[in-house]
Amino acid sequence: MSTKLSIINHDRRIFKGKYIYPVVSRRAGGLSIGINLNTNSACNWQCIYCEVPNLKRGKPEPIDLALFKEELIYWLNQIVHKDFLDKHTEPGTLLKDIAFSGNGEPTAAKEFAAAVKVVMEQIRSFQLENKISVRLITNGSYLDHSATKKAWGQLENLNREIWFKIDAIDPVETKRINQINISKKSITSNLKSSIQISPTIIQTCILKINNELPSMKAINDYINFLKPFADSLKAIHLYSLARPTEQSTSDSIERLSYDELQLVANNIKQLKVPVLSFI
Ligand code: SF4
Repeated sequence: MSTKLSIINHDRRIFKGKYIYPVVSRRAGGLSIGINLNTNSACNWQCIYCEVPNLKRGKPEPIDLALFKEELIYWLNQIVHKDFLDKHTEPGTLLKDIAFSGNGEPTAAKEFAAAVKVVMEQIRSFQLENKISVRLITNGSYLDHSATKKAWGQLENLNREIWFKIDAIDPVETKRINQINISKKSITSNLKSSIQISPTIIQTCILKINNELPSMKAINDYINFLKPFADSLKAIHLYSLARPTEQSTSDSIERLSYDELQLVANNIKQLKVPVLSFI
């Protein structure tokens, strides 16, 4: 197969396993080994911009850990010991991370701790300790659970990052954008836990909803919420709609232009946390 993976060719179906998919990611800065624990496309949130087709509410189905491990070893072997990178990515592309991402909230899986352990063991086995990171792309909603903290805590001696989703602070806005009921207190508790157990990056999707940019109030709420955590955050990633949403919503949503996203980024820079925009 001569297919090349690039940041515009993200199609997971090209190299499809059940749990593992390689993808070239601009935010990861190279090749990412993606882990999808939510094979039934179930999430506890339903963000209006979510790109997961046929997303449903719920938890992941049981995970076949033996198959998960087999797929991970297969892909690590292809990428580290064989010529996958030369054949299927642009010259100079390197393996950057193993990322728990996928079609729903990964920490909702009962087997999350066991899956993290498999990843940790294979990073050691392929001697990737100082070469790649393990990333958790999460809506953060399970991070203050002791089981989740313990699961991620297994990685304390490895490079790791939590990419923690915060799109809005006001409960009316989170209801509208993420379609969940979550209090500011819960977001605070989850974010504190994230910072306790891992270097943390905030990931924020900014949208034009019904032709309107986020209000100054929403931006100020966001800045004021993050202020007490600013010294503990590694970065803030801002992005907008990359592909059409797969969710049906009564609101119309649109991608921001580069300049519009920069205006938001310039406001947020007052936090003195590195702000990176991806559009
Ligand atoms: S948290 Fe992620 S997977 Fe879940 S609905 Fe939102 S964007 Fe989709």
